[in-house]
Amino acid sequence: MTAGDLREEVALACRVLAVEGLVEHVLGHVSARVGDRMLIRCRGPRERGLRYTSAADVHEVDLDGRGELPGGYRVPNELPIHGELLRARPEAGAVVHAHPPAVLLCGVAGLELRPVFGSYNIPAMRMALAGVPVYPRSVLIRRAELAAEMLAVMGDRQVCVLRGHGITVAGETVGQAVVRALNLDALARVTLELARLGRTAPEIPPEDVAELPDLGSVLNDEAAWRYYAARARECVDPPQIPHLNG
Ligand SMILES: [Zn+2]
Repeated sequence: MTAGDLREEVALACRVLAVEGLVEHVLGHVSARVGDRMLIRCRGPRERGLRYTSAADVHEVDLDGRGELPGGYRVPNELPIHGELLRARPEAGAVVHAHPPAVLLCGVAGLELRPVFGSYNIPAMRMALAGVPVYPRSVLIRRAELAAEMLAVMGDRQVCVLRGHGITVAGETVGQAVVRALNLDALARVTLELARLGRTAPEIPPEDVAELPDLGSVLNDEAAWRYYAARARECVDPPQIPHLNG
């Protein structure tokens, strides 16, 4: 993938997160590793929110956020989420930070993200089975020390709930990170709805868990990613009007 393609993919990931309801207006960002640097969604002078992100909003900086940005663009306040995760995990190629309402509600209500379903969404079920870590502080992660705290809680998992705030998700590719974020959101939505119904999902017996294959490979995630990417392209007119493009 060329640097230009990757830039477009980061932009598309932002549009997917918005279309799928994981981010609202201008909050949230996506990054992708390029060598020892990263491409990250920045805010420009004509910011219109993640739904209308274009490749022109994605810029290359080092893992501390240093780099030449064109007129009026600046890196997100929470850049350390991306820089510190990519620094700590050589296998990670992309990072998503979003604020999905269902995950937020589960977090603040203290609802544990348990494996409440099986084949409905196996990657989400396996995520729950492994345990979804919760970073208990609702702070804005704008310093490396806070990102390090979050990463310590995250451990070797690919997702982390930031209570009262949002989520951090790692992936080998941009598509995988986005699909993992969507799976986490699916789990939270069902968990929340069960709580609203006043019901508790029964434990899934180990012999049934054994019949749920690990579908969480990059190949499967990339297929789901193509679906979400196509849907976002359908829902959002790509921002092609030059005067709106910043
Ligand atoms: Zn945030």
